[in-house]
Amino acid sequence: MKPASFSYVRPSNLDEALTALSQNPDSKLLAGGQSLIPVMNFRLSRPAVLIDINGLNGLDYVKSSDSGVEIGALIRHQQLHNHPVIREVLSVLAEAAGHVGHWAIRNRGTLGGSLSHADPASELPAAMVALDASFQIGNAQGMRTVPAREFYQGFMTTDLGPSDMLVSVSIPHPGAARFGFSEVARRPGDFALAGAFVKVEQGSQGAVTWFGVSGGPEYREVEISQDAEARRSVWEGLAEELDPLDQPEYRRSLAVTVAEQAYQRATGGQE
Ligand SMILES: Cc1cc2nc3c(=O)[nH]c(=O)nc-3n(C[C@H](O)[C@H](O)[C@H](O)COP(=O)(O)OP(=O)(O)OC[C@H]3O[C@@H](n4cnc5c(N)ncnc54)[C@H](O)[C@@H]3O)c2cc1C
Repeated sequence: MKPASFSYVRPSNLDEALTALSQNPDSKLLAGGQSLIPVMNFRLSRPAVLIDINGLNGLDYVKSSDSGVEIGALIRHQQLHNHPVIREVLSVLAEAAGHVGHWAIRNRGTLGGSLSHADPASELPAAMVALDASFQIGNAQGMRTVPAREFYQGFMTTDLGPSDMLVSVSIPHPGAARFGFSEVARRPGDFALAGAFVKVEQGSQGAVTWFGVSGGPEYREVEISQDAEARRSVWEGLAEELDPLDQPEYRRSLAVTVAEQAYQRATGGQE
């Protein structure tokens, strides 16, 4: 399949990109193209104008401060996976980025593209929800900040308007909280059938964020028991509240499995 015809613009800075978005209501940003180009090839999307943001220099950064880490929208998944700061401060994010598709996809696909596309089986939107990230979103009128936990609003639906661009994300320093990640996919590189991030804090406080089970990231704060059977009933109770897109019994059972695996990884299997 080939896409329907479109015009192409390649801005060289953020202002030009935001202006192009505001001047072309029927346009799409082109980042890594790993999700957009397939849907255009199937003619499920027919933008009149493609705004290629790959020429915007300086949006593939990682900046660390005492309060946390800021990441530019154009960082590629493989850069995220390999970055020494991410590996040291947010190792669960580096690990999750390594599960996005295959090497070739990770070399092109961007953080901003994945977070904006909002596939319910994507690792990175759920990682942002689990890590309590905030998104900086720009348009021709200015910038605003939206918490990741408010950004995702249902199946492939986000807070982004047609003239908005996700510019960067800020992730607070995890402090003493420990995170674990697990997913089940048919083959390495496939989208997850179900995945989970689990956060364990001091005492029994914690949280689970599921992806791939229902229409988007599912965040729940939870008291995490150290007793395996009690913990399992907590996962089962929470999984029962989820609204799977298909095969509800199977997806809920995977949700329980990945939550427990993520918990074990968060605690090094020691609690
Ligand atoms: C075979 C295959 C397997 C894959 N497996 C996985 C997987 O396991 N897990 C996973 O998470 N993903 C997977 N993907 C998708 C991949 O991660 C994409 O990189 C990602 O979904 C989109 O990022 P992109 O930069 O390619 O965005 P694009 O395809 O360029 O854009 C996607 C959408 O986001 C919009 N957009 C892009 N950047 C911005 C921005 N900064 N602000 C606002 N809107 C923006 C575009 O207009 C478009 O609507 C897979 C893709 C393929 C082809």
